[in-house]
Amino acid sequence: AAIDAARDPLRRTIWNAKPLLATDVSAGAVHNVTNPADPSDVVGTVQPATPDDVTAAFDAAQIWDATTSERAVILNKAADALEAQFAPLFVLLAREAGKTLPDCVAELREAVDFLRYYAAQAPFEAKPAGTYVCISPWNFPLAIFTGQVAAALAAGNAVLAKPAEQTPLIAHLAVTLMHEAGVPAHALQLLPGGGDIGAALTSDARVGGVAFTGSTATALKIRSNLAQHAAPGTPLIAETGGLNAMIVDSTALPEQAVTAIIESAFQSVGQRCSALRCLYVQEDIAPAFITMLTGAMDALVLGAPWDLSTDVGPVIDETARQGIADHIATARAEGRLLHALPTPQTGTYIAPTLISVNGIEDMTREIFGPVLHIATFKSGHMHRILQDINATGYGLTFGLHTRIDDRVQFVSDRILAGNVYVNRNQIGAIVGSQPFGGTGLSGTGPKAGGPDYLLRFSASGEAH
Ligand code: ADP
Repeated sequence: AAIDAARDPLRRTIWNAKPLLATDVSAGAVHNVTNPADPSDVVGTVQPATPDDVTAAFDAAQIWDATTSERAVILNKAADALEAQFAPLFVLLAREAGKTLPDCVAELREAVDFLRYYAAQAPFEAKPAGTYVCISPWNFPLAIFTGQVAAALAAGNAVLAKPAEQTPLIAHLAVTLMHEAGVPAHALQLLPGGGDIGAALTSDARVGGVAFTGSTATALKIRSNLAQHAAPGTPLIAETGGLNAMIVDSTALPEQAVTAIIESAFQSVGQRCSALRCLYVQEDIAPAFITMLTGAMDALVLGAPWDLSTDVGPVIDETARQGIADHIATARAEGRLLHALPTPQTGTYIAPTLISVNGIEDMTREIFGPVLHIATFKSGHMHRILQDINATGYGLTFGLHTRIDDRVQFVSDRILAGNVYVNRNQIGAIVGSQPFGGTGLSGTGPKAGGPDYLLRFSASGEAH
């Protein structure tokens, strides 16, 4: 569906992003940012930062010279500003990131919660770590971006923030609002750009710490850049990928499990690091259960992010679409495609898809889209499956559906995962009460939105 621009002036707005530095910005090329659901919709333009801008930003960076309570007041004002600018932020999230309206609401709420939570947690005693680099992904371009920046600012650091190359516009608007709320320009600078700018930011000897969310491969590159260029012990907080599994045994409530699976695997088009990737269903219930599951998949509505009826929007860009489509094509060629919905012809859509695997050991990489892999298991094999899941090395989320109380304990004692969900959907976190983060290849900890998170942004921070 084309955007009904005439109805809504916000949808005709062209946004512009450029580096926001406390000093002069070098001249750079400008390119368009388009809407994933409708490539003819030019959402705005971006002027990425150059390597010279990175040097200039480090030169101009100064820690936030304000008391803890002054910082808290300003971060709360920034939260107020985000709430007051609900409409443009909302439309921009839908247009730039292709997120559905419920996802946009949840994301804006989370961004505001992060600002208020870290404002309330701002440490009184600790000294800031210095110049903190925040590198964020496109899948939560407002919430994760704001969360990292708010934490680093609450601890009094100078922040250099680099949003993902796909989503510079929402980050530019968020930083503008934070500046208007009173965060000084030298304490928060924005450097839009790609991996080259991320690499430059994490290779400067003056970096005091890095908060990163993205792929495991990039986290490893950043770790090696820091080892080479930064002071020993410079903290890296990394939140990375996962090969998240769920086990449904024959005592599970099928309706509850199916609802949870649909949300966990297909909400946000599967573009969440917490999303369910590999489902294990006990063999004796599998045929009936798969029939129910595919029926529920058929009820999902694929469509434009700004349509209220849409359950599943587009994936972020053509590169992502092609990678997922190749994975599905391989499964089809191997006779492992169990079910797939039809895919729209325009926009970067991938329809919800179900693929059979022998187990998680068949999955070599995280497929960041609406693709669920399913395996069956025999009774008595629970221990073996848990070993296979742990052997992937990842440890982000895990789900279990059972009505056997002993089993909840047995599995929880053995599974390596940052967040475990029992008899519910495998989604997300709540800032302040359910912090989020993984172990192993999935992340370094501490968990975002939790009580220990800010410690790592201080010079007196915990072990590295
Ligand atoms: P994704 O698969 O989610 O795009 P990436 O790890 O590639 O994961 O991207 C996450 C963030 O890391 C983005 O802001 C991206 O620009 C940045 N990035 C990519 N490569 C590097 C790098 N070598 N050094 C630092 N940051 C990088």
